[in-house]
Amino acid sequence: MRQELLSLLEEKTGAVASVAGWLWQRGWAERNAGNISVRLDKGKQLSSHDQSKTPALALPKRFSTLAGSLLLVTGTNTRMRDVADLPRENILLIRINDEGDGYHILPRAEMTRLRPTSELATHLCIHEMLAAKRPDHSVVMHTHVTELIALTQIKDLCDEEKLNRTLLGMHPETSVFIPAGVGFVPYSLPGTIAIGEATVKALENHAVALWEKHGVFATGPEPEETFDMIDLLAKSASIWFLCRSAGYDPEGLSVSQLDGLTKLKF
Ligand SMILES: [Zn+2]
Repeated sequence: MRQELLSLLEEKTGAVASVAGWLWQRGWAERNAGNISVRLDKGKQLSSHDQSKTPALALPKRFSTLAGSLLLVTGTNTRMRDVADLPRENILLIRINDEGDGYHILPRAEMTRLRPTSELATHLCIHEMLAAKRPDHSVVMHTHVTELIALTQIKDLCDEEKLNRTLLGMHPETSVFIPAGVGFVPYSLPGTIAIGEATVKALENHAVALWEKHGVFATGPEPEETFDMIDLLAKSASIWFLCRSAGYDPEGLSVSQLDGLTKLKF
C-alpha cells in the first residue's frame, strides 16, 4: 500500500477513535450501539491486485458508484469504548469490489475475525449518495443520542417541520450551524436496504437524520465535525426537555430572531 494512503489511514483511524470515545462518554453508545465509517477516495488508487485473495463477501445490492472504494468501518458488536482504546482491533478496512456487489476485508496486523457493522448496508447507501452529491462529506456516523430519541417518542414531534421548529428554536447555534435542520425517518427495521434508502432520502437535503425511536445518522467532512452537529442537536433537545421538566413550554426563538441569525457570518 502506498505511504500516502497508509498515513491517511492512520490519521482517519485516530480521528474515528477519538470520536468513538466521545460517543461513549456522552452516554450515546450503550453496549455495541453506534457505528462509524469513513470513505477514502484514495482507495480508488488501490488496484484489485492489492486486495485480499479471499472471495468477496456479498452485499445486498450493487453499489456501482462505490466500486473500488476503500472505507474504514467500525466492526460489528464492537463497543465504542473499545474502538477508542484499541482502534486498530475494532476498525476494519474494506474495499468494495470492482463490480460493486461485494467487498473484501483488507488485512491489518491486529485484525482477526472482525466483520463490519450490521448497519453496513445503510452506511453504503449513504456513501453512494454522498459520493455523487456531497463528495466533501466522507464520514457517516450513527449513534443513540438519548435526548433526540426521546423527542421521537413524542408522536406530535414525529413530523419533520415540527421537529425542526423545536430543535432550531432552542439555541441560536443550532440554527446557525444546522440551518437545514434534520431529516425524519419513520421507524423501520434496522440493518435493511429499506431503512438505508429512507435514510438516504432524508439525508439528501440534511446533514443529520433522526431515526424514530432509535437514533441519529449524520454525515460530515471529518469525524469531529460530524460529532459537533449531533452535539448541537442534543443540546437543543436537552434545553427543550429541561423547560418541560420545569413545567414550562419553551418559547423558542421567534421568526425574526431566527431571521437575524441568517445574516451572521462565521
Ligand atoms: Zn442503532
